[in-house]
Formats: sequence, structure tokens, C-alpha cells
Amino acid sequence: MSTSQTEQSDRKKYEFRRVIEDLKEHEGSGTQLVSIYITPEEQISSVVAHVNEEYSEASNIKSKQTRTNVQDALKSIKDRLRYYDTFPPENGMAVFSGAIDTGGGRTEMVTRVLEDPPQPIQSSLYRCSSEFVTEPLEEMLADQGLFGLVVLDRREANVGWLRGKRIEPVKSASSLVPGKQRKGGQSAQRFARLRLEAIDNFYQEVAGMADDLMVPERHEIDGILVGGPSPTKDEFLDGDYLHHELQDKVIGKFDVAYTDESGLSDLVDSASDALADQEVMQDKAEMEEFFAELHGGDLATYGFGPTRENLVLGSVDRLLISEDLREDVVSYDCPESHTDHELVGQRAETPDHTCEQCGSEPVEVEREDVIDHLISIAEQRGTETRFISSDFEKGEQLLDAFGGIAGILRYSTGV
Ligand SMILES: [Zn+2]
Repeated sequence: MSTSQTEQSDRKKYEFRRVIEDLKEHEGSGTQLVSIYITPEEQISSVVAHVNEEYSEASNIKSKQTRTNVQDALKSIKDRLRYYDTFPPENGMAVFSGAIDTGGGRTEMVTRVLEDPPQPIQSSLYRCSSEFVTEPLEEMLADQGLFGLVVLDRREANVGWLRGKRIEPVKSASSLVPGKQRKGGQSAQRFARLRLEAIDNFYQEVAGMADDLMVPERHEIDGILVGGPSPTKDEFLDGDYLHHELQDKVIGKFDVAYTDESGLSDLVDSASDALADQEVMQDKAEMEEFFAELHGGDLATYGFGPTRENLVLGSVDRLLISEDLREDVVSYDCPESHTDHELVGQRAETPDHTCEQCGSEPVEVEREDVIDHLISIAEQRGTETRFISSDFEKGEQLLDAFGGIAGILRYSTGV
């Protein structure tokens, strides 16, 4: 994956996450929030037909209020679907609409369309409920990484993938390795040699199976997990049977009781700690670098003001933003053409503001999400943006101690 694609998908994921957070806060009274998931293969016309059916069925709803709300939601969805041709965008789309409670007995109609999620939508869904159905999209956003899975003992082996949270068994093999009991008449030595040969052959076969599957994907793979009883998995790894580029990607070996397809799930369970570490590994490396610069170098910047200034100067190599940062930035212009920025909570009202430089009262010019604001500058300056999880200590520090915003510089600016 090229850097620009990674960035784009990071940004997209962020946009999705924000819309989902917003949708999750809403509750409808009764079952009147409509969620529709459209797969890439689904024709828009058939979705519209379904919406029309639901619309007529909704006329049977007894409560007038609910009936009106549901029909309004469906009508709003139909209006949105009008913008699409035969098929939805490449990865499908999700549409949400409904009358939400805004307090004091009032409701407001909300419609959100999430086009082209980071991964294709797997199954279509139509649901009318008191909450929007966001789990499939949430899973997709949590869905990080591609891991190769190998489980084996001397009798059988399975290889497959872990994509995000989904386990995909792909191939299996079983061996002709004889048991430990030799038949009468065979010399013990010869028996042992044949047995070792058979084991070696089987390991080669398993490695071949893994190589065929994983070598073509080696640049996308985040790690390989190997499971089995001892000493099989150790022999297999120590014997360097796997292609060397795959061997380098092995992040651990784990004890599992079964080596059939269910062994793949066992393996993922046993490896959960290693997988969690792996997920934040790149984030950890970025934060280590940031702290090293902060304490011993001069290529660290942090906080909204200095980081923004460096971004504008084009001196930021990587912009580090906490995944949990939720703030708006208000940009003010004063009559003396000074520009000021102030961060405010996303629910807070825009505060009164006096120009820091000349004291005159400026007019508000723009209020936007601070992450959108920074990324726009970063994109213009060729700066990469990295979203940093707060699920580890230094990631948490980025949010708590540095306002969720920092950067690693290309050169020192003294800002
Ligand atoms: Zn001013």
C-alpha cells in the first residue's frame, strides 16, 4: 500500500468514525430509525423497491407520530438514493435516517450516507429500530491488519488468514507420518529414519502450502502466527521451512490443542496479546521517536499552536494526532488582518474572542473540526498524518499531556 493510500484511508476512517459516534448518540422513540447497508453487487433499483415496500407497510403503524417519522425517513433515503446510478460506489454504502429525540419532546430528522467504507460491505441489511445499526461499520474500522495463520502437528495442518477479526481457513493437509510404534520386523534405526523423513516431508508440504498462500501477499502481511503442540511448531520454525521473507514475519508461536480448522481460532485466541501489541506497534514506534526528539533532539513539536505553525512552514514530516481528539478550531480574522485560532469543545458555543495581537474584537470566520483543519494544511505541505491510538501509555500521553496534537519535524524551526 502506498503512503498516499494509507493516508487517504486513515482520513476516511476518521470521517467514518466521527459519523458513527454521532449516529450512536441518537435514539429514536419507538422503532423508527432506519439503517440500510448496500453491498457493492446490489442494484440501487432493488434497494429502492425494498424501501418502497417498507414505505407502504409503514402505513399500518398505529401511532401516527411513529408512522410519519418512519415514512419521512424512508422518503429521505429514497431522495438520497436518486443520486446513484445502477450500483453503489465500489465498496458499497450505508444509509441512516430517522427522527431523533432532541429533548423537550422535539424531534429532528437526520439522514447520513456513508459511501465507500474502507472495506466492502459484506451483507445487505435493512433494519428499523430504536437505534441505528453501526456495528458492521465499527468492526470494519477496528479491522486492522492481515495475519497469516499456520497450525500444525505431525498429523495435520491448516493455513489461513486473520483479516481484522475474521478468520479465513484456506488450505489443509494431512500427513502419512507413521506413529511411534514400529511394525515387527523393521529395524528400529530404519524405522526412526523413515519417520524423520516423513516428518520432514510433511513440514515441507505445510511450508509449501503457506508459501503459496502468503508469499504473494508478503508486503501486505502484518505478521504470521504459528500454532501447534510442542515440539512440532518449534521444529517447524527452527528448521526454516518457511520462505525466508515469511519466516521474518513470524511474530510468535503459540500452544494450541487442535490443528484442524478450529485450531485457527484457538491460535488467534492464544495470540490475542501479541496481536494487540502488533496493532499499536507502529503507533508506539512513532511515539518513541517523538519522545526521543523531545528529550534529546530538536525535531519535536506539540500542541495546536506550534504544530500548526510548523505545518504552515512546511517543516513537519509526520503529523501525530490522537485518535480520541475531538475538538473544533475557530479561526478569527481581526480588522488589522491578524488571524487567531482557538480550540473549543465540539459541543461548546463559540466563545467571545479578542485578538491576541492588537486587542480588537475580531469576527469569527470559520469553525471546523480541528483534525480536518490540520490535515488540510498537512496535505498541502506533503506532510503525512498518523492517527495514534490511546490504548498504550505514550499514546495516552499524547492526548492528555500534548493536547492530542504533535509532530516530528524535517528540520528545526525554533517555533
Ligand atoms: Zn488583531
